[in-house]
Amino acid sequence: MIERNESVRCTLPDMLMQTESASERNPFIFARKQLDEAAAIMKLDPATHELLRWPLRELHVTMPVKMDNGCTKIFHGFRVQYNDARGPNKGGIRFHPDETIDTVRALAAWMTWKTAVMDLPLGGGKGGVICDTKSMSSGELERLSRAYIRQVGRMLGLEKDVPAPDLYTTPQIMAWMADEYSFMQGNNEFGVITGKPLAIGGSAGRGDATARGGIYCVREASEVIGLNLSGKKAAIQGYGNVGSHAHKLAAELLGMKVVCVSDSKGGIYNPEGLDHAEVSAHKEAAGSVTGFPGSLAVSNEELLELDVAVLFPAAMESVITGSNAENIRAKIVAELANGPTTPEADSILYSKGILVIPDLLCNAGGVTVSYFEMVQNTYGYYWDEDEVYRRLEKKMKTAFRSVNETSGRYNVHNRLGAYIVGVGRVADAMKLRGWI
Ligand code: NAD
Repeated sequence: MIERNESVRCTLPDMLMQTESASERNPFIFARKQLDEAAAIMKLDPATHELLRWPLRELHVTMPVKMDNGCTKIFHGFRVQYNDARGPNKGGIRFHPDETIDTVRALAAWMTWKTAVMDLPLGGGKGGVICDTKSMSSGELERLSRAYIRQVGRMLGLEKDVPAPDLYTTPQIMAWMADEYSFMQGNNEFGVITGKPLAIGGSAGRGDATARGGIYCVREASEVIGLNLSGKKAAIQGYGNVGSHAHKLAAELLGMKVVCVSDSKGGIYNPEGLDHAEVSAHKEAAGSVTGFPGSLAVSNEELLELDVAVLFPAAMESVITGSNAENIRAKIVAELANGPTTPEADSILYSKGILVIPDLLCNAGGVTVSYFEMVQNTYGYYWDEDEVYRRLEKKMKTAFRSVNETSGRYNVHNRLGAYIVGVGRVADAMKLRGWI
């Protein structure tokens, strides 16, 4: 049972939590615990704290979709608008068979703090549809995408809520959704969704934005701890969009030697360094980084404990835990993945003097360039890649410094520092608007 603040206990019933709320694995419980910890340090007033523990708005939708075999299948989905005190809600749409309302709520809360940490004039939202994209044809996916927008479109809009791609949703899916929404409005409104293909209003530089933002943070972090990264070793867990771009950019922008990378099938290690173009070509041909010529096989667990200067978790959540945190030897852990470090591991890494760049900050390059896409759509004037990179670098540097300075001031680890910055900004906006 979630502990509620006594003075505002009557504001909302706990029955709004889904039945799995008692589960330890419920990410919304996890998100609330992190908020509670920050709120205690910040001495947030009880009403502000209670308001921030709940999504402001959510829509549950049911969608009939004609399947290729002629049957109609019924799908369920959600859109959560967690808090829009600072601006329109922003957050991805996930297509996943295990999607739950509490997962969407947790991710919407994290988006709220993330956009605030980056000081973007946005709130936080998230959407999800329970479906298995791997068993669906392109036509079925298109009909489901359009059905979802017909249902949630009533709460979307450039000034209300702007979705983006997320787990198992792609630029093509965003294009269908933007098209459906435009027909609903009677005119083109491509700005209602970001992560679109370039031909219909996407932004240059969106492809590698998440990894690039993380690399800019690592550069800042190395200056804080006085570590010269040139020629130093790095390891990357996960070789999808984020991990693969991180490999390229760690070498190109930081001069680092990436000695180990992995995917779901396992890892590869070469103490002399792995070439990005060659590993990518191998993964493209073989479907995995494993078996790369001239490399040694390592497990995903071993990768995390290698003696490297920078460790990039860029795959799954909860991989650095109370069981392995003592063995982490990296000087910097750059969280490109969402939620790779458990709270227990956070404390251990902090006590070992390892600098963790938390996900709220480290992987915020993606939403930052999504915001740039909204701006460009509004103006109908598009920037080149260099312009996007220049603006992204400035945003990441400013956010890094603000989190680092706050962590130092409160004498807490960087994740709590990021929460204090993000939650504090949302609380200030609510107060100024007279909500509290
Ligand atoms: P992706 O699907 O493109 O790639 C995921 C990679 O992780 C794949 O290489 C996969 O093989 C690997 N993987 C899966 N299970 C694994 C396991 N158990 N051990 C090791 N590797 C495993 O996803 P992505 O877009 O690169 O996202 C990676 C992480 O970054 C996720 O946590 C995501 O939430 C986060 N993130 C992504 C973005 C973005 O812009 N794509 C933005 C913010 C955060």
